[in-house]
Amino acid sequence: MKYYSTNGCAPLASLQETVVRGLAPDKGLYMPKSIRPLPQEFFDDIQDMSFQDIAFNVASALFGDDIDGDALQEIVYDTLSFDCPTVQVTDNIHSLELFHGPTLAFKDVGARFMARLLQYFIHDERQVNVLVATSGDTGSAVANGFLCVEGIHVYVLYPKGKVSPIQECQFTTLGHNITAIEVDGVFDDCQRLVKSAFMDGELNEHMRLTSANSINVARFLPQSFYYFNAYARIKKLSERGGIDLSRIVVCVPSGNFGNICSALFGKRMGLPIKRFIAANNANSVFYEYLKTGVYTPRPSVQTIANAMDVGDPSNFARILDLYGKDHKAICADISGATYTDKQIAQTINEVFTATGYLCDPHGACGFRALQEGLCEGETGIFCETAHPAKFKDTVESIIGSEIEIPSKLQAFMSGEKQSITLPKDFKSLKDLLMSR
Ligand SMILES: *Cc1c(COP(=O)(O)O)cnc(C)c1O
Repeated sequence: MKYYSTNGCAPLASLQETVVRGLAPDKGLYMPKSIRPLPQEFFDDIQDMSFQDIAFNVASALFGDDIDGDALQEIVYDTLSFDCPTVQVTDNIHSLELFHGPTLAFKDVGARFMARLLQYFIHDERQVNVLVATSGDTGSAVANGFLCVEGIHVYVLYPKGKVSPIQECQFTTLGHNITAIEVDGVFDDCQRLVKSAFMDGELNEHMRLTSANSINVARFLPQSFYYFNAYARIKKLSERGGIDLSRIVVCVPSGNFGNICSALFGKRMGLPIKRFIAANNANSVFYEYLKTGVYTPRPSVQTIANAMDVGDPSNFARILDLYGKDHKAICADISGATYTDKQIAQTINEVFTATGYLCDPHGACGFRALQEGLCEGETGIFCETAHPAKFKDTVESIIGSEIEIPSKLQAFMSGEKQSITLPKDFKSLKDLLMSR
């Protein structure tokens, strides 16, 4: 499969080039040249297949031309060492729990898949060094996704004192091939340092550098696996009656729109989802695009669903491209919703009181959008994108009681912090990397 750039000014690239580069040379996002539908027999039997087997079928359609079948199967099985179950919350609303991976958020799947795919492509070659700047969650997903993957070393740059203690321990306690660098500055300084490193000729001679950016095809496309699994689990449930499989609505709490974009690819591959809802917090640029047809990016505002605080979603270009820039066609498949912090808090509280199900602030946007947006006869699935304990203080103050911290998270918190402190000038980072 060849990949083209959404900006249209870069040569077609192989999967390997696409994964190693991340962004196309014309700064566009890579898209697969064609989307291969899965055969009807796959959907006929899907309810009795495991998550891993479903994912392997999807992965074969996406990546099968470029990776040997056994290797791809190993990558998929190794990536999905945990489940992503659906849990019924109300009569017609189900939660797709994407928080059962190592860092308790959905980005684990993409990060783990990318690490293994990169390893596959670079084996026998010299060590690759991944540089990543983080304001919190990306660092933990990438660091844990790449942990102990041979031939790859990861440097996580994060702003000193600006990430929560729970987030910090998820990438500073790992050791092995993960080095945490605490920068005496803000997130933008970390991002600037990473960019400077990629542009420094001498440094790139000295070591092989790459990014693990969320726009990487290997991080975003594997997220489509969840949606096939969700459909399978709901199809199984429907054997008991009461669910119309032709009227399933999927709601994705969205920030950079990578997750929902992968779901749209799923639909193109034949997944029978009737329609999608993109749930936003107060950062409602996409919501307004749907309403007006005009896309007006603006600086993000801070909310309690902070992983969705994005004012210019990077995957918007992919959605436009997928629909040939046709606003009407986009609106036919996707509707939007936007919620204030107050509404998010109210939803967490109401759902918890009424059903006992505890949403995190992102998932709460998804639940509410279904509650308000489902039509008669439709069944809704929302993504619970992170475990509520990742937002312990926020969620506890909303529900007024303590929540239990899963043992996986507790294990990180009892680990010993190992990090290198650096000032925010590029020379300090370069000296450190040149000495390695
Ligand atoms: C990253 C993230 C999102 C947003 O996902 P996008 O793919 O950027 O739209 C939502 N919830 C959580 C918990 C996240 O970490």
